[in-house]
Amino acid sequence: MIVQQPTEDQRLAVESFRKFLQSEIRPIAREYRDRHIPKEKMREILQATAEFGLPGATVAVEHGGMGLSMVTEAMLFEELCAVSVDIGLCVMINKGMALTLSELPESQWHLRDRYLPDMVAGRAFAGFCISEPDVGSNVADIKVAARRDGDHFIINGEKTWISNGHYADFVFVTAKTGPKELSHILVDRKEHGFESRNIDKIALNGQSTAQVFFSDTRVPVTNIIWEEGNALKNTMKVFEKARANVGMLSVGLMRAALEASVAYSRERKQFGKPIAAHQLVAAKIAEMGTALDAARLLCYRAFSMMDAGIRCDIQSSMAKLFATEAAVKVCRDAVQLHGGNGLTKEFDVERLAREAIVIPIPDGTSEIQKLVISRGLTGIAAFV
Ligand SMILES: Cc1cc2nc3c(=O)[nH]c(=O)nc-3n(C[C@H](O)[C@H](O)[C@H](O)COP(=O)(O)OP(=O)(O)OC[C@H]3O[C@@H](n4cnc5c(N)ncnc54)[C@H](O)[C@@H]3O)c2cc1C
Repeated sequence: MIVQQPTEDQRLAVESFRKFLQSEIRPIAREYRDRHIPKEKMREILQATAEFGLPGATVAVEHGGMGLSMVTEAMLFEELCAVSVDIGLCVMINKGMALTLSELPESQWHLRDRYLPDMVAGRAFAGFCISEPDVGSNVADIKVAARRDGDHFIINGEKTWISNGHYADFVFVTAKTGPKELSHILVDRKEHGFESRNIDKIALNGQSTAQVFFSDTRVPVTNIIWEEGNALKNTMKVFEKARANVGMLSVGLMRAALEASVAYSRERKQFGKPIAAHQLVAAKIAEMGTALDAARLLCYRAFSMMDAGIRCDIQSSMAKLFATEAAVKVCRDAVQLHGGNGLTKEFDVERLAREAIVIPIPDGTSEIQKLVISRGLTGIAAFV
């Protein structure tokens, strides 16, 4: 069944995680509002959230994870994102990388066994490097090259917009390994070497979005992830999981915006009554709540298909498209509902509105999601 009430176990897990987030993480999120969270501090946060399952929630128990379903993990993840999308984004990348490592084929278990335990425990950071200065939506055009030299690759070039990039202890790099071949290669910062630099953005500067530079980086061929030359196909599998998760970042934002708006509209009085008693404000609250629930349900549908082992590229794209665009509107409406106060740093909604603008861009823009969805529905690609 796609939509169901939380089980008792899910309810208890969410409740205790929520309590922990309110007492331990919310104060940190406040302290670092619009400021970069240093790596050591972020590591402390990751290790604390690891106690509640994230980032190894869906990793099988025999690999040190909790073996939870994608839907259960999404419930926990929403709680985190409603408190801090900065921390949510960092955890999202790490949990995606942990799950990927845990599912590597037998020939790559040496990489799984070396990197997975630290990921699950929240001790290590990872990043996934696809985008480049001249390569965004068109992933097939990647320029970063991995030239074969005996039993090593030599990697040169720049990746950009890499989430966790400045924190990362290791990254998966999508690189050209032949004239028309792309492959994923695991590169370790200490062992093989890469440099990184944070990018300053409109919002979400608490976590790291970074440029990553490779300069004659020498990596053994045994660090290939999945099959050599098959990166495009495998990237689509990564996007299938990632896009619904990006949708959940926006669900968290909408939750925070709605909660703030409900509280404010009950407190703030104009024309002799709470603004919630004015019908246009009531309508706004109703639309915000409906958008939040619709976005969450679309994300849950994708996650429940993943749990059932059903490929869900289109459903995941729909979840991302709807949730991220809905959050832009909901968070903007939250500012409007707060009047002048909504524009000040004293209230959270101005930050939420800035954060919401960021999220429709990563893991394929809204335009690209529309192209993926329409191709799925018509069978005709309209990318070029
Ligand atoms: C916060 C954040 C985190 C990110 N994290 C990562 C990460 O961890 N790893 C990583 O590799 N990348 C990451 N990215 C990069 C992200 O995936 C790209 O920014 C995104 O794919 C868009 O690429 P671009 O910015 O180069 O825009 P472009 O591809 O240059 O697009 C510019 C505009 O043109 C539109 N457009 C492009 N092609 C078409 C088309 N065929 N039809 C219609 N419209 C089109 C786009 O929708 C967009 O509006 C991140 C980005 C952000 C903002």
